[in-house]
Amino acid sequence: MGMLLGVSARKDGHILQIHTPESFLHFDRTGRFVRRIWPGQVIRRGLDGRMLQVKVIRHGTKTYREYLDLGETEKEAALTAAYHEAINVLQFLHPDDPWIDALEHWSSVALADDKQAFQKVYLPISILPPDQYRSLVIQITHGCSYNECLFCDFYRDRKFHIKSMEELQAHIRNIKNFFGERLADRHGIFLADGNALVIPTQRLLSMLDIMKMEFASVAIPFSTFMDTFNLKHKSSEELKTIYRRGLTKVYVGLETGSDRLRDFLQKPGTAAEAATALIRMKEAGFGLGVILLTGVGGRAFADDHLQETLDLLRDIPLTKDDAVFLSPFVEPSNSEYAGKIRSGGLAAFSQEEIDAEVFRWKQHLLGYGPRVTLYPIEEHVY
Ligand code: SF4
Repeated sequence: MGMLLGVSARKDGHILQIHTPESFLHFDRTGRFVRRIWPGQVIRRGLDGRMLQVKVIRHGTKTYREYLDLGETEKEAALTAAYHEAINVLQFLHPDDPWIDALEHWSSVALADDKQAFQKVYLPISILPPDQYRSLVIQITHGCSYNECLFCDFYRDRKFHIKSMEELQAHIRNIKNFFGERLADRHGIFLADGNALVIPTQRLLSMLDIMKMEFASVAIPFSTFMDTFNLKHKSSEELKTIYRRGLTKVYVGLETGSDRLRDFLQKPGTAAEAATALIRMKEAGFGLGVILLTGVGGRAFADDHLQETLDLLRDIPLTKDDAVFLSPFVEPSNSEYAGKIRSGGLAAFSQEEIDAEVFRWKQHLLGYGPRVTLYPIEEHVY
């Protein structure tokens, strides 16, 4: 039993945290593995069965993060070790603890079944804002109504589709069955995929009403992604009604305030039009998360990108309840972006240069009203 010295178990009814000599293990209220944390390293498992390892690497005075999607063998080894250690700790500390049965239920077969059940309920949840990982995701649309921004391949695998009321009802039933008691661990509802505000207003309002009724136990509010070029289809009165009905926070892919870069990235609409959309959202009451794509376009665009974005932000009445997200650019898996950089005779930034750009942007945004925070898309696991 010497190996169990220095262990503890903390249970607050819906989460189990096991402290082993080297790490912390977290399990959800059913005993499903959620994450393991070591100093400078974490492994997280998503509902879709993905397991992401994030390591903090120190190199001289610099710190950066390394991301690794674990393969099947590594996942199996990580889960077997986690359950084995957690059950050992509980058997040592509290041999009659009902959590032991809960942990033993999650054999690799049960975890594989859970992953399959998730995949029957959802299309892949390609991306979420970093403060929405604990939300309940409801896919009221599939994909993106535009789907052609050069830097974005999140929804290239699917056609844009707005769910009918019947499809939404079926999706809600499936979500309830899948989550069961785990629903209580979700806070707020995130409307996926790309842009719920593209839905005709009356239909969106009816959808919000149904979701509020069906998920009364999950704390509202609703939030969603939004792209600025679609807003012209909504009047200010409609926006206020949507806000009052519970959709109160939107994450806006502004990306840049530079028209030259927007054009290069095939992002529809001018920076001035995007600013108008953001101002209208603020006037209607919405909380905004403005997403900026740091490092995209490389050196040729870098100074305009920063300066013109700062100029645009100055015109938007953002408050401390809003957020500005700096999203370090990650090259999409398709080759269109790299091809356009090459054919334009341009040079993409290296990872080190992107990190330096993030630092430079942060310096320029010091003392700016809203919270300024990172949005590393590689960290997304749902
Ligand atoms: S960035 Fe937004 S608008 Fe552009 S393709 Fe991606 S989801 Fe669609």
